[in-house]
Amino acid sequence: MKAVAITFPSREVRVLDVPEPRLHSPTEVKVRTLEVGVCGTDQEILKGDHGVAPQGEDHLILGHECVGEVVEVGAHVQGLKVGDLVVPRVRRPCPHTRCPACRHGHPDFCVTGDYTERGIQGAHGFCAEFFVEDAAYLHRAEDELRGVAVLTEPLTIAEKGLRELVHIQSRLPWKPTPGKALVLGAGPVAQLGAMALMRAGYETTVYSRSPKPNEKAAASESMGVPYVSSKEVTVEALKQRLGGGVDIIYEATGASKVAFDSLKVLEENGVLIFTGVPGREEPLELHGDEVLGQLVLGNRVMFGTVNASDSDFSAALEDLARFRARWPGKLEQLITQRHPPSEFAKVVEAKGGIKHVITFQEHAR
Ligand code: BGC
Repeated sequence: MKAVAITFPSREVRVLDVPEPRLHSPTEVKVRTLEVGVCGTDQEILKGDHGVAPQGEDHLILGHECVGEVVEVGAHVQGLKVGDLVVPRVRRPCPHTRCPACRHGHPDFCVTGDYTERGIQGAHGFCAEFFVEDAAYLHRAEDELRGVAVLTEPLTIAEKGLRELVHIQSRLPWKPTPGKALVLGAGPVAQLGAMALMRAGYETTVYSRSPKPNEKAAASESMGVPYVSSKEVTVEALKQRLGGGVDIIYEATGASKVAFDSLKVLEENGVLIFTGVPGREEPLELHGDEVLGQLVLGNRVMFGTVNASDSDFSAALEDLARFRARWPGKLEQLITQRHPPSEFAKVVEAKGGIKHVITFQEHAR
């Protein structure tokens, strides 16, 4: 079968001919890949900042955002049948008994770093005609989500972040009502984050670099989320424009300068959620005392969040259905380009568009 892989040490992305995977245990499922999303992490892998081949191999099959269709189920698999649409999770637990996170079914909080991630870290990904996965790591998706379920994984980032946010806010001696939220960035994680914040009841604004008009601004404004360009409006001016600070900032850029700068618009007791995996850019000059003052003197919280758990994937699938009902056609519009597998490397470098997806549908047997 065809698989898109990065080879080591040359770091070339190629379509390889590899053996079709087979079931090795009665709890496994064989899946025909329909679509794979391409994201910033893939870019980092190609650049050499991320990405490890499975042990003893010289290549890594790419792709960690995926939707596929079940073609075979092991004898002990329950709740999945041939023809079902499924979305796989990304991370698998580390082997250490001392890792409370992995031993409690939460590799997304792994403490040893010895986890594997399909398509990223030591395990082949999903950008191949077929893959095999244990049923425990697959989520069934309703058929109506066929065209958008590839967005599940990027939405899980927001699901986990907002779930953690609820815990953090429970420290307050009253139940806060959702106020204002600011999303930093306007890529797929940001747009899906904005939708999740709106769903949670926050009055949301997107703050991103490019001046209007542009495709991303149009996408967020068509959902009723105002878009402000950071090139045109400083953080201070933004605060004035919004009529005050915001309660939540959802960072989805991986750019540390704008992230720390945004603390200036965060209200007392506010929470800044970092989700962007930073590239290895120039060091940032930061006024440490100012940042500490903002945190301490305003009871503000900053936290980072990565990867997602079983319940975040379930929540994301439920939300995708809600978003389709609330904003008909909008999720579909976030997927701006579909490409054949041979274009993976080109897609990673592509400028413009929102979500680029590799489709295997015309390539299926
Ligand atoms: C994925 C996460 C993963 C992270 C770090 C992100 O793109 O969404 O699942 O944990 O990269 O590898």
